[in-house]
Amino acid sequence: MFKDTDFITNSKVPGPTKEEIRCLVISKSQLKKEDEVLEIGCGTGGLTLEFAKRCKKVYSVDKNPDAIDLTRANLIKHNLLEKVELFHEEALNTLKNIDKINMLVIGGSGGNLLEILEIGSQKLTSEGKIIVTAILLETKTEAISKLKELGFSVEIIEVNISKGRILERGTMMYAQNPISIIYTV
Ligand code: SAH
Repeated sequence: MFKDTDFITNSKVPGPTKEEIRCLVISKSQLKKEDEVLEIGCGTGGLTLEFAKRCKKVYSVDKNPDAIDLTRANLIKHNLLEKVELFHEEALNTLKNIDKINMLVIGGSGGNLLEILEIGSQKLTSEGKIIVTAILLETKTEAISKLKELGFSVEIIEVNISKGRILERGTMMYAQNPISIIYTV
């Protein structure tokens, strides 16, 4: 796993997804070496880099040009650029033009989640999986009900990570935002 400090960051772009959450996403994805992954909302590239390190090909899309530049910079820094194709556009455009993928990872949807899931599910291979990381309550419930409606078996975990900072007087725990990982099985 990459450490959070391994990433170049920029105040205009969210991310990277924290290391402990990236661990869980990779574990729940049951990613295989030969997989091709489409990631929607690459942000800083936190998840893009983890997937790129472990699979055949990643297609990463973000509508924010700064996110594309930052993900590219992080891929170059860690020598993974040749594994990843970057798309600066609205996710729905990429989805319409892409062939079959083994996995769809959604880290941002900007109000288009239902349509993204609807079109994305048609682009999956027969064993394909969908993973959604969600902070908003609405995203969690929308993702679960839409995936059920599309015929998937769905699981969800929610984690509240706290990380200790060792101070002179003792160890202080700092809480990170709770985040849900919704995934098909
Ligand atoms: N997982 C990333 C952080 C994702 S932040 C990391 O580890 O670095 C979510 C990103 O989704 C933002 O950069 C935002 O611009 C992008 N986004 C949200 N809705 C989108 C859409 N409909 N199409 C493309 N990108 C989108």
